[in-house]
Amino acid sequence: MASIIRRKIHLHRLAQNHILIHRKTLSSTTEKKTQCIEKILIANRGEIACRIIRTSKRLGIRTVAVYSDADKYSLHVKSADEAVRLGPPPARLSYLNASAIIQAAIRTGAQAIHPGYGFLSESAEFAQLCEAEGLTFIGPPASAIRDMGDKSASKRIMGAAGVPIVPGYHGDQQDIDFMKLEAEKIGYPLLIKPTHGGGGKGMRIVHNRDEFVESFLGAQREAAASFGVSTILLEKYITRPRHIEVQIFGDKHGNVVHLYERDCSVQRRHQKIIEEAPAPDIVNEFRSHLGDSAVSAAKAVAYNNAGTVEFIVDTDTGKFYFMEMNTRLQVEHPVTEMIVGQDLVEWQIRIANGEPLPLSQSQVPLRGHAFEARIYAENVPKGFLPATGILHHYCPAPVSPTVRVETGVEQGDAVSMHYDPMIAKLVVWGESRNAALIKMKDCLSKFQVAGLPTNINFLQRLANHWAFGNGLVETHFIEHFKSDLFVDPHDATVQKEAYHAARFGAALVAACVCKKEQTASKESLPGGDSLLSLWYSHPPFRLHQPARHTMELELDNEYDTSASKLLKLSITYCPEGNYFVETGDSDFNGLEINVLPLGHHEFRVEADGLSMDICLAVYTKGHTNHIHIWHGKHHHYFRQRMGLELSNSDESEHKPSFEMGSHPQGTVVAPMAGLVVKVLVNDGVKVEEGQPILVLEAMKMEHIVKAPRAGNVHGLLVTTGQQVFDGGVLFSIKDD
Ligand code: ADP
Repeated sequence: MASIIRRKIHLHRLAQNHILIHRKTLSSTTEKKTQCIEKILIANRGEIACRIIRTSKRLGIRTVAVYSDADKYSLHVKSADEAVRLGPPPARLSYLNASAIIQAAIRTGAQAIHPGYGFLSESAEFAQLCEAEGLTFIGPPASAIRDMGDKSASKRIMGAAGVPIVPGYHGDQQDIDFMKLEAEKIGYPLLIKPTHGGGGKGMRIVHNRDEFVESFLGAQREAAASFGVSTILLEKYITRPRHIEVQIFGDKHGNVVHLYERDCSVQRRHQKIIEEAPAPDIVNEFRSHLGDSAVSAAKAVAYNNAGTVEFIVDTDTGKFYFMEMNTRLQVEHPVTEMIVGQDLVEWQIRIANGEPLPLSQSQVPLRGHAFEARIYAENVPKGFLPATGILHHYCPAPVSPTVRVETGVEQGDAVSMHYDPMIAKLVVWGESRNAALIKMKDCLSKFQVAGLPTNINFLQRLANHWAFGNGLVETHFIEHFKSDLFVDPHDATVQKEAYHAARFGAALVAACVCKKEQTASKESLPGGDSLLSLWYSHPPFRLHQPARHTMELELDNEYDTSASKLLKLSITYCPEGNYFVETGDSDFNGLEINVLPLGHHEFRVEADGLSMDICLAVYTKGHTNHIHIWHGKHHHYFRQRMGLELSNSDESEHKPSFEMGSHPQGTVVAPMAGLVVKVLVNDGVKVEEGQPILVLEAMKMEHIVKAPRAGNVHGLLVTTGQQVFDGGVLFSIKDD
């Protein structure tokens, strides 16, 4: 009997347990159903949208892309499970259209929105709107975005939390006399910054008290026009700073960790182009001090999800100061991923799901060194102005576990004037800084883009610079070493060296083109008749003399388009299948070249006892062949006239026609494709040399077109809202 009772109790307990377990399973399933993200809408475009889609796919999460009409066929749309059209190309009508994005998420049943970076990623209103609609915003709470969006308020919060801030005035008083007194207290040089600024806009360095009033009023005007808020802060100007930022992550349970720092000092136009992690040449004590300060900064605003705390480091004193906090995933987040071996987008999703941080501070590894080089469509010699065009040839460096290419474009896509001109991010990892740098140099030389100007050559010069190699980075690096980094079009020695390398490239082009034509003509011989083939073959058979061919290649001069050089090549077909190429230059004895085609674009060539793989890209626009060759570390670009003169409709990559030289004196042309956002003077008025005439905007940047000399403005017909093309005539300056 007792055993029966025991058994009954046991069964009862079992049943209870079962019910308990069953209930637990049921309740956790219900919890998961309401919390877990199974479908994400990515409110962004380009490489970051592709990047987020990749991680989502790996986690089994379905994705929804959004797109403007300009992006209908783009990679991010193709990569997502579903896609929703937002509107016309301008960002304010598409990627900044918050309600259209929310509607798209509701319509497709996405539970969460990932904003990427830029666009709506730092809009507290958008984050709030998402929450109000029951959508999870994969990012920090709206309150943290708001606190950090105001540079003055964020500095006050950080100061109170014990995070070091740059000495300066961050208060509400904006009276000019009061500000002048504050400026005296800080001392010169000082920096004036709009409190709600970004992208370096409106920032002014004031060297002495005489410059103060004008700079202050100018910055206020620019801030009001650009950000709708004219408040200004004053800050000590650090003359030799480094930009070092710390990646932080917080969860919804109050935990915050840092994932070490990135050095983003190498900048142009206040924008980063090469980033690395960890920062070179800093000691571990400094590293942990930085990391701890970043964690305190995040805790001060109850932060969760991914964030970056930016510090400015005074290289003279070794002190660091809080600059600002970016409340989103940064462009350069992959360098951190490479050194800690984690997927930060996965962390963001897990945290948005309410999970705790995947690692504690002591568990975050730090291994090796990583670089990121941003490949932009831009005109380096024209002051890094953004460029537009078609990617006629696009073959990024080969990827591997230690080389990533983050891109949102494919061959044939266009880089339009509507969005950021970044083509790709090349991310490399190595056991040490040196190992990573070697890899970056190699990958840059293998990164092939043709169809529009890029900064690849410039990045190569940067990566090869001795000071960069030694980690001597600071924010004025490019300015400081400009004579090494930019090619001087008037330096005879430099030009001669460049010409010799290009001449070698031209000879290889000539041999490869002949080989291609020869192979093509053999394949299309009429009926394969052996006797006929003798006459139809390429080159044609000649009695008593070897066949010859001539070719004219115009060498593009990136730095001086008016100085493009014409190379006249003579190619002799040698009996054993080689080509003997001459240029007519007295210091060039000709080169015998053997060509072995490897693929559609690739060849193995042997010349001058050297054997190497090269790549050729050829495309035709109008009556011109555009030929690019990559050989060794070199890339050369040639134009080949096809019988006829270069016609006006030929749209060459670097557009020689844009140069002042090809227009009557005093003509001013658009330095980039863009939108006219302001016309500052009327046609016919008298202007001073350097006076701003109109403002162009393209790809997030404004460019002020100024009068090249004093005189009367003539033919100024463009109006606000009009689109202009690179090289299009804007107006001219005439004498009275
Ligand atoms: P924005 O938000 O407009 O990009 P930041 O405050 O982030 O402006 O500063 C942009 C860049 O300006 C920094 O990366 C740094 O190179 C430079 N900078 C900012 N503050 C200072 C300062 N106090 N002294 C010297 N340079 C500074």
